[in-house]
Amino acid sequence: MAKFEGYKDIYVFVEQKNGNIANVGYELISEARKLVKQIPHMNFEVVGVLLGHHIASKANDVIAHGADKVIVVDHELLENYSTQFYTDALTQVINAFKPDSFLTGATVLGRDLAPRVAARLNAGLTADATKIEMDPEKEDEALLLVTRPTFGGNLFGTIICPDTRPQMATIRPNVFSMDPVDPAHEGEVIVFNPSFDDTEAKVVVKEIIEKVVEGIDITKSDILVGAGRGAEDCLDIVEAVAEELGGAMCASRAVVDDGFADKAIQVGQTGKTVRPSLYIACGISGACQHVAGMEKSDMIIAINRDPQAEIFNIANIGIIGDVKEILPLLKEEIKNVKA
Ligand code: FAD
Repeated sequence: MAKFEGYKDIYVFVEQKNGNIANVGYELISEARKLVKQIPHMNFEVVGVLLGHHIASKANDVIAHGADKVIVVDHELLENYSTQFYTDALTQVINAFKPDSFLTGATVLGRDLAPRVAARLNAGLTADATKIEMDPEKEDEALLLVTRPTFGGNLFGTIICPDTRPQMATIRPNVFSMDPVDPAHEGEVIVFNPSFDDTEAKVVVKEIIEKVVEGIDITKSDILVGAGRGAEDCLDIVEAVAEELGGAMCASRAVVDDGFADKAIQVGQTGKTVRPSLYIACGISGACQHVAGMEKSDMIIAINRDPQAEIFNIANIGIIGDVKEILPLLKEEIKNVKA
């Protein structure tokens, strides 16, 4: 008998708010597709789980993004996020369908929900992961190797959950790329009706006040010009280059800690994870905590006056020199090309 009889497939929690699906759900579906392809003998599928109210019409979007099945849990108690009702509903889904693994975005919601569900199921959970692989040495099970920063971000630890199912993990947004939408992709929609023993909310949401996001969301920008401590005294020109390219400025933690930039634009382990088409690192040393947040960028150009700077190890193009000299030249050149 197989070790985990009845447990099958990789499930992805598809987070939505007001019917808008967060990209991280699609990123995880794309990655889950790659994982199931590595174990064809197990015939695993990728299953999206969509919770909310009046959200059934979104199931086709989830299929177009690569899910083979979507479980739709539509209930008025799930209209807005509630730890209590989402935990109740999701636990029932997992008990009913027995996923082999269950992935959730490490968003504010995911970080609240996944541990609750894991505790209720007595399942193992790896939180805040940045990498997932399939253990190539296990032929008769789909054991996930889930990597996350540890010891204050100085080391990476790979965690396995060999004894329980589902193997649960929360994964940071923007870590995985999203496959292109395929409207021709076919899948099955399954409606699941949860039953709530206790329908009295323990926490009552009186009002929802949307956060006003000031400035640009760097995770959405396709071109980023990153300022490091070496560019602290020429941030105006870093910003001007970003603007000329139609992108945004971001910063290393050193610049944020020194008080020259807002935490909202910090890239890295304790900041945001970004994956733009172009990342220009200006006066950034390339510490692993910074690199963890931008190494998946399609093209990395690094400008640093130290030829030994770590950032050159991951850069596609390296320019050795003073940012104060190079950035004005770059800005003029971009202007000329655009003219
Ligand atoms: P520095 O390390 O001071 O490097 C400056 C670079 O600029 C040097 O390479 C220098 O050669 C170059 N330079 C100087 N002047 C010039 C010039 N005129 N022209 C060209 N080059 C020049 N860091 C992050 O960025 N993001 C994080 O999320 C993050 N999280 C962390 C979490 C933990 C738990 C810890 C311990 C650290 C974290 N850090 C993070 C900090 C990280 O370790 C580095 O200290 C930080 O990234 C360094 O920033 P920097 O490269 O801008 O500055």
